[in-house]
Amino acid sequence: MIDLRSDTVSRPTPAMRAAMAAAPVGDDVYGDDPSVLALEARTAELLGHEAAVYMPSGTMTNQVALRAHTEAGDQILCDACAHIAVLERGAPAALSGLTVRALPGRNGVFDASDVRAACPPSHRFLPQIQPPTRLVCVENTHNIGGGTVWPLATLKGVLAAARDLGLRTHLDGARIWNAAVATGIDVAAHASGFDSVSVCFSKGLGAPVGSALAGSAAFVARARRFKALFGGGFRQAGIVAAGALYALDHHRQRLAEDHANARRLAAGLAAVPGVEVDPEAVATNIVRFRLSALGANAFVERCYGAGVHMLPSGTSGVRAVTHLDVSAADIDLALERIAGVMAEAEPEAAS
Ligand SMILES: *Cc1c(COP(=O)(O)O)cnc(C)c1O
Repeated sequence: MIDLRSDTVSRPTPAMRAAMAAAPVGDDVYGDDPSVLALEARTAELLGHEAAVYMPSGTMTNQVALRAHTEAGDQILCDACAHIAVLERGAPAALSGLTVRALPGRNGVFDASDVRAACPPSHRFLPQIQPPTRLVCVENTHNIGGGTVWPLATLKGVLAAARDLGLRTHLDGARIWNAAVATGIDVAAHASGFDSVSVCFSKGLGAPVGSALAGSAAFVARARRFKALFGGGFRQAGIVAAGALYALDHHRQRLAEDHANARRLAAGLAAVPGVEVDPEAVATNIVRFRLSALGANAFVERCYGAGVHMLPSGTSGVRAVTHLDVSAADIDLALERIAGVMAEAEPEAAS
């Protein structure tokens, strides 16, 4: 089975497992797990922020950030297809009492004018009927957008608009490591200017568990309170933190291979009848394509039967993600299998 569902499915390598087995541990809730502390320090340093806190998931780091930045009744701004808005089980409302105002991004990328348009000027004739807007969230790379990388100039424009409007800023950088490798620009440049930054170790970096939330020392101290409140104290977390630390030191540069494999997949898919894909749109490790001859659910079922595991997205969309456990040869084999599925489907669609 060639598993292209997500970069989260990659398994720890033997060297990573060795680092985890040898990790010194303490108790994360008492703040004395040396491997967790080392991971937090290294993450903060790489991102160019004062401090960071390790948590079990990226959903938790995002939601703790929202909780720490806002109060119930506030509104936050993010792209209409942001992970925070549509893939976190309604957590902004359920956990923090927030409403999400969706901005009309292009493949997940909005700009300063979208932020300004969502924050009209007040006037003494107008009562305060809108919820107070507190926070702008940027997702880089953008998952549903197709692994899109934010141009730094657009990012800086959004940060400047947020500053003018008195809004705080959060970066959902689950795949910020991919953005850094794709652009060749240091990860700290993508993370700078934000009040908080969430990053995942369990996606492309290939660690088994966890994410971190970075920001000022004061912000991170506050975030630790909500990490505990949301049930995120995880005791001998050093075992998994050691895997994340290993990934930070050894698996960032190799993300370029995943990006090359994603381009290889898209180029191959473009030649398959019944598949619509724009290889130019593939910026990192996510390939999103559409089917003209077969429904997405039927397609992913048949591909699964043929030994390629992918996820449907809507009625005719499909997502494939490259990662540590997928080689260029696997991509070629996956393409053969997908072409076989489509060759069988084409006559059916025609009849
Ligand atoms: C995966 C992901 C997260 C967090 O995911 P968890 O599965 O909760 O670790 C957050 N944001 C984006 C953009 C993601 O792709």
